[in-house]
Amino acid sequence: MKKKVLSLVLAAMMAVTVAGCGNSGAQTEGAAPAETAAENSTEAAEAADTAAGGKYIIATDTVFAPFEFTDAEGNFVGIDVDLINAIAEDQGFEIELQSLGFDAALLAVEAGQADGVIAGMSITEERKAKFDFSDPYYDADVTFAVAQGSDIASYDDLAGKKVAVKTGTNGADYAKSVQEQYGFEIVEFSDSPTMYQDVLAGNTVACFEDYPVMAYNIQQGAKLQIPDGVNAAGSSYGFAVGKGKNAELLSMFQAGLKNLKENGKYDEIIAKYTK
Ligand code: GLN
Repeated sequence: MKKKVLSLVLAAMMAVTVAGCGNSGAQTEGAAPAETAAENSTEAAEAADTAAGGKYIIATDTVFAPFEFTDAEGNFVGIDVDLINAIAEDQGFEIELQSLGFDAALLAVEAGQADGVIAGMSITEERKAKFDFSDPYYDADVTFAVAQGSDIASYDDLAGKKVAVKTGTNGADYAKSVQEQYGFEIVEFSDSPTMYQDVLAGNTVACFEDYPVMAYNIQQGAKLQIPDGVNAAGSSYGFAVGKGKNAELLSMFQAGLKNLKENGKYDEIIAKYTK
């Protein structure tokens, strides 16, 4: 437990802190400023405790384009980033977005160091034991990609080979579920870019990833390709809070998402990143 907390603290310290775009002049008393939360574990915990008073700490992944990533100008952007900011604005609450990595983001919410997570997080039965989810806001299959020009074209071709997965993800679970059937070896990575790099370097022959993310990266120039017919196990993304916690935040997310879907803002955000 202590070890887990320590790693969370380290993750929080390393986190790229992206302040919400709201007007911080209207802060209620007791809400910790964005910067201190990432600097000090005690303050981070206090910030989470007092978040309901003003600012919610929302954990996210580091690089999971087009959902969250740093653009050419150095801005932290993406569908999740725009969605949570637009929902916060619509519902009149403030957020502090912490880019921790996928696994770390989920752990931060579990440990009460963040109030919610938006990270292309698939709604799964297993996760419902630890998290309360919003309605789905995006659908995604799991797929695998190989280096361009690779002769791996099916699950059968993975036999005896090493494949890359990202720790704690739906894609990793899916790979594990078919590992024995197809006889491949699994190597885990903590973020998507490192996983793609490993395939490009030829250490692993394929990586399991969510289809929209893989397709977007390929469209953006990643020298990978998705063999025909390898998509599987669809899931939907949801915003999550710790089980039984932050019910108000969750219901504001729900209400905001509904409004954004009705007023066209949701479609606008999706179109901005998927054109
Ligand atoms: N959708 C996948 C999951 O929830 C991957 C999310 C991610 O890597 N950010 O497990």
